[in-house]
Amino acid sequence: MPKLAVLYDAGQAVLSTFDLDEVLQRILAIARDFFHLPNVAILLLDKEAQQLCVRSQIGWDAGKDKICLGYHDGITGAAVLKKQPVYAPDVTKDPRYICAAQSTRSELAIPLMVCDEVVGVLDCQSDRVDRFDDETIELLTLFSTHASIALQNAYLYSLERQRARQLEAINTIAQQSTAVMDLEDLLARVCSVIQLAFQVSHVSLLLREEGDLVLRAHQGTLTPCIPPGGRFPVSQEPWVRVIASSGTIIEKDLTTTPEPERLFKESASRMSIPLISFGQTLGVLTLHSSQPNTFRESELQSLESVADICANSIQNAHYVERVKQLAYLDGLTGIFNRRFFELRIMEEIERARRYGTGMAVIMADIDQFKRLNDEFGHLLGDEVLRQVSSLFHQQLRKIDVVCRYGGEEFAILLTQTNAQQAIAIAEKLRRSVESYQFPGVPRTVTISAGVAAFPAHGKSRDEMIRAADNGLYAAKQAGRNRVCLASLARAATGGR
Ligand code: GH3
Ligand code: MG
Ligand code: MG
Repeated sequence: MPKLAVLYDAGQAVLSTFDLDEVLQRILAIARDFFHLPNVAILLLDKEAQQLCVRSQIGWDAGKDKICLGYHDGITGAAVLKKQPVYAPDVTKDPRYICAAQSTRSELAIPLMVCDEVVGVLDCQSDRVDRFDDETIELLTLFSTHASIALQNAYLYSLERQRARQLEAINTIAQQSTAVMDLEDLLARVCSVIQLAFQVSHVSLLLREEGDLVLRAHQGTLTPCIPPGGRFPVSQEPWVRVIASSGTIIEKDLTTTPEPERLFKESASRMSIPLISFGQTLGVLTLHSSQPNTFRESELQSLESVADICANSIQNAHYVERVKQLAYLDGLTGIFNRRFFELRIMEEIERARRYGTGMAVIMADIDQFKRLNDEFGHLLGDEVLRQVSSLFHQQLRKIDVVCRYGGEEFAILLTQTNAQQAIAIAEKLRRSVESYQFPGVPRTVTISAGVAAFPAHGKSRDEMIRAADNGLYAAKQAGRNRVCLASLARAATGGR
């Protein structure tokens, strides 16, 4: 039986690789070369979507290679239902036939079975009526049993590989999240690891801030519709559902549902997983595909464990940021402390030097504070310190930095500010304190301030601080409750 011998060889050929696409191509090539079939396709069964979709084909026109049918429709569907080869010798006479190519006259659909379960269909079409004789059908059916096994092996192998890749991703994220403590850095890395491991078009991380979800990081090939840092109200669909249900949402087809605001232009399906740490929803991890129907319930488990690790690492990074912040905050007033001022002034001087934008420092000190403490008690003194800090905050721009330099002395960094502007700002601060009625203090509280500008009064941190201090000293000497610019002569000699 030479035919059986060839068939045996064909079986060996399809069984000798684990690569799914290669198996499919080999099956089709054998059907074409050995059985002389010009139009063959392999359709795989998608149980969740209840569809048979063309996965690989030979001889079809472009565009026919993406076809999906209901899994009980057409001649192929009949083969799934019967678990037997179904032959339509003349398609025009078969009511089950669904036309995919005008030239087709006969069609043979052979189910690909593994353990009594249909996994797909080998579909052969011919432009001749009754092209398939009994012997061909029998041989093709025999061949398809080999093909089924090869398919199943390749499928299991690809699942294994995918699992391994995903496990590796989970591991990488777990490792990186302990090593990377900077939040921005962590978020960016998480996005790229997930995109690579799960092979999706785009991945993004949205974190909750007040009533919004903020796009903090993303990675992929799609076009973002909002800039990094862009916001969506938490109350907006679908985020409101993800957060309210604390569960994952899969949107199979975004092309048909108009969204008020899109994240990525070409996103056709999306999976949104809440990031939950200790019962708190910190944000949402989103995976996007440029194709509809990409995400499967079956992938949920591994993605949810990734989201779990992400949420915990984000929480850790939050803690680290908070601890760092605490190290730079003053416990009494909540504003920055001297350590922070000394770091920031270096950065500001460097920036002013590089861009020639100018910067200035104000040193402000509460007048006769010792007397205030003596008269009204230390606790009220503390309260005055808090209120002065908050007055300063209200009067200044967001980019300015207010620090408690020590005791009742404040240091203020003004970016892109010259001496005249700095004096005007210091004067504004002085007036606001003078006119403020401090609760429980039945008299006026005042401050004195010294102003120094870069580079006229100093070119380094120490020179700038010394110059502003000199200005403050001069203000005290001149009777308090006033602002003095550092003197150029004093700044040069550094004397106080
Ligand atoms: P001047 O107008 O010359 O600045 O006089 P002054 O009394 O404000 O300055 P002095 O340096 O003599 O005294 C500062 C006082 O500030 C002494 C100290 O008890 C008080 N002080 C420093 N830190 C705190 C604080 O955290 N809380 C309170 N209530 N008082 C503080
Ligand atoms: Mg004082
Ligand atoms: Mg003082």
